[in-house]
Amino acid sequence: MIWYPYQQMKTMKEPYKIIDAEGVYLKTEEREMIDSISSWWSVIHGYKHPALTEAIKYQADHFCHVMLGGLTHEPVQRLADKLKSFLPGDLDYSFFSDSGSVAVEVALKMALQYYVNQGEMERTKILSLTHAYHGDTFKTMEVGDDEDYHFILEAYGEKKDVIHVPTQIPALEQAFERYHRELNCFIVEPLLQGAGGMRMYDSSFLVRARELCDRYDVLLIFDEVATGFGRTGNRFVADLVQPDILVLGKALTGGYIGHAVTVANRKVYHGFYSDDADKALMHGPTFMGNALACSVALKSIELFEQENYMSKISRIEEITRREMTGFTDDRIREVRIMGGCVCVEVKDGAVLRGYQQFAYERGIFSRPFLNCMYAMVPYIIAEEELVRVLDTMKEWFT
Ligand SMILES: *Cc1c(COP(=O)(O)O)cnc(C)c1O
Repeated sequence: MIWYPYQQMKTMKEPYKIIDAEGVYLKTEEREMIDSISSWWSVIHGYKHPALTEAIKYQADHFCHVMLGGLTHEPVQRLADKLKSFLPGDLDYSFFSDSGSVAVEVALKMALQYYVNQGEMERTKILSLTHAYHGDTFKTMEVGDDEDYHFILEAYGEKKDVIHVPTQIPALEQAFERYHRELNCFIVEPLLQGAGGMRMYDSSFLVRARELCDRYDVLLIFDEVATGFGRTGNRFVADLVQPDILVLGKALTGGYIGHAVTVANRKVYHGFYSDDADKALMHGPTFMGNALACSVALKSIELFEQENYMSKISRIEEITRREMTGFTDDRIREVRIMGGCVCVEVKDGAVLRGYQQFAYERGIFSRPFLNCMYAMVPYIIAEEELVRVLDTMKEWFT
C-alpha cells in the first residue's frame, strides 16, 4: 500500500497512472497530457531525453553508486568542477546530498557550525521569510512558515530561534537592528517563493539583504532548490546577488534522479578548514555524490549551456506575457509571471476545486495548491503546447 504525499488517504482521488513519458508528455492508458509543472519543477529537459538517458546508461555499465566516505570517482569530481565554473564568484565548494530538504539542513548546519568554529556561541538565531518553504524535514519545517506543513511543529512548542520577516526592506532592516548580535544566517528563496504560494518579489530586497549581512557579519543562504537553473529568468538568482551558501536541487539532475547540493563560498569553507578535527563538518548522507545522479546532472548542465536554455526561458516568458495580457476575472486576485513560472492566484482556493480533472480532460497535467493555479513547464516546450496550457488555465474561468 502506497502512502501518498500531502494527501488525506481516506478521501484522496485516484492518482493518474503513468505508463510512459516523452518530451513534455506524460502518458496514461487513456491519454497523453502535457506536464505543466515538470514533475514538481524538476524535469526541465522533458522526459526520455536521449542524452540524459544515455548518461545514466553509460554510468550504470560501470557502477551505479559508491559511498563518498574514503572513496571518490570521476562523475562526482567532474560535477564539482563543473559547478565551480558554472556558478558565480567563489561558490566553489560542493557538498552533495540526496534531496533538497537534506541540502537545506546541511546549509543550516554549516551556518550554525561556522560561528561555533569561530568561538561565537551567541549567534543562534535564523532569519527567514514569512511564507517560506525550505523542505519537510524538522529543521527545514522550523525555518519554513506554512501552517499546512507545520502544524505538527506547534505540538513541540514555540520556534525559539527562528524569526520571520516579510519581503519588505524596512522590516528587514528592523530585524537586523534588533537581532544582529544573535543572528546566524538569513535563509531565503530568492525572488520566487514557491510552495509558500508562488510569491514574487524584487531583487532590491536581496541587494539590501546582502548589504545588511555584510555589515553585521551574518551568513546569507539562498535556497535555489526551486529557482535554480533558469526558472526565474536568471540562470541563478545568485548571478544577481551572491549568497555565502547556495542550495540546489530539483532541476540539478534534470529531474531524472533525486539529488541536491549545498555550495559554500570560500569564506564558509575556510571556517571549517583547520588542523583541528573538531572543526570538520560532521555530515554524510549515504547516497551523496551518487554516480548516476552526478552523471546525469553533468549532462543536464551541458545541455543547459550548449542549447542556450536561457533563450528558451525568455521565449516562454514572452509567450506567457503575450497570452495572459488582459486576462482577468472577478475570482482572480493576481496573475504573476516570472521567467518560466506563471501563477494565477485566486481569492478563494475553493475556486480551483475540480480544475485538475478539467485540465486532465484537455490533455494537461496540473496540480493547483493553496490559492494557486500555476504552470512551470519543461523548457523544451513548443509554443503551441505552451499556448494550450495557458488556454486551459484561462478556459477554467470562462
Ligand atoms: C522542493 C523544495 C525543497 C525540498 O526539496 P526536496 O527534494 O523535496 O526535499 C526545499 N526548498 C525549496 C525552495 C523547494 O522548492
